[in-house]
Amino acid sequence: MSEVDNKIGGKKLKAEGDIELDPLCFKDEIAFAVTNQGVLVPCCRFDDPATMGDPKMKPLIEASKISENNTIDDILKKKEWKQFVDNLSKNIGPNACLTTCAKAKKYSQNVEWIDTSTGKVKSKEIK
Ligand code: SF4
Repeated sequence: MSEVDNKIGGKKLKAEGDIELDPLCFKDEIAFAVTNQGVLVPCCRFDDPATMGDPKMKPLIEASKISENNTIDDILKKKEWKQFVDNLSKNIGPNACLTTCAKAKKYSQNVEWIDTSTGKVKSKEIK
C-alpha cells in the first residue's frame, strides 16, 4: 500500500486518506488567533508546540508576523496561507489540525493476534 505523508511535520506517516479533516476554520466556526509571539494563526488550537515547531509550518509562521505586515488581509492573501488552505482541503495538515479537526478515519484496520501453537485468535484490535 502506498503511503503519503499527510502530516505536514513529517513525523508520522499515515495511509493515504486515513484521516479526513473537517476544518472548523472553513466553516467560520472558530476565530483567528494571535500567539504571544505576535504571529497570526488560523485558530487558537494551532498554537501548540508540535504545530508551531513543525518545520513545514515555518514558512506560514514566518509570513504571518503581525509586526512585519500592514494589515491582516495582507497576511491572509499570501501564498503560504493559500497553500495551507489547499493542503487542509486535501486532508493534509499539522498536528493541531489532525487532532482538532479530524472528522473520521476513512479506513480502519482489524488486527488479530493469533496463538500460532493453537491457531486460535487471542485478541482483536480495531485501529
Ligand atoms: S485546527 Fe487546523 S483545521 Fe482546525 S480550525 Fe484550526 S487551523 Fe483549521
